Amino acid sequence: MKIVVLSFDDGTIYDRKFIELLNKYHLRATFNLNSGLDDYVWYYNKNHEIRRLNLKECKDLYRNQEVASHTLTHPFLTSLNKDELIYQINQDLINLEKIFNKKITSFAVPFDACNDKIIEIIKKNTKIKNIRCPCIKDDYFPIDQYHIHINALYDDPLIFDKLEKFSSNNLENSLFVIAGHSYEFEVKNDWEKIEKLLKYIYTNLKLTNMTMQEAVDYLF
Ligand SMILES: [Zn+2]
Repeated sequence: MKIVVLSFDDGTIYDRKFIELLNKYHLRATFNLNSGLDDYVWYYNKNHEIRRLNLKECKDLYRNQEVASHTLTHPFLTSLNKDELIYQINQDLINLEKIFNKKITSFAVPFDACNDKIIEIIKKNTKIKNIRCPCIKDDYFPIDQYHIHINALYDDPLIFDKLEKFSSNNLENSLFVIAGHSYEFEVKNDWEKIEKLLKYIYTNLKLTNMTMQEAVDYLF
């Protein structure tokens, strides 16, 4: 099976419109959320306000989507000691499971700071069953479920070529992970771009859309 996973980070107010689009094309995504940053505001390019959702009000919003951990407060993992790292994930899991009333097993590394020591600590000390790492690679099969790489960012100028190539690969099973943030659709004027991409995934019969945990369950 040729599996496409949509993995989107940070849980901002633009997830609402994005999820409407996902529903329109009968697709599901994995949303990597930080439960310690409700209503947090920052500015993209100094003028675009980016607001985090208040997750406690979002149980219905993410009902058909996979909710995954992205740490409690989005730190650089390489700046944390072991106890802080474990706390950042386990407390996020406790909060997210309470809010969404479902088991959370997927994790996406915030920023691009990660290494094998961090992955080993997460594996041994949390309930996380898969980790999306920050690296971008062309391979269609991760080395294991704790080292899932990104294949393309949603706005990769070659994304349709890459997906075409992926659609015709000869592997029995393969995975293509597309990552990004819904606020990028707004600040980069990319709502049409993401809709075109979702439509392509929906209409390409060779591709099967899954959430990250579904893909991992299928592949490993
Ligand atoms: Zn993030």
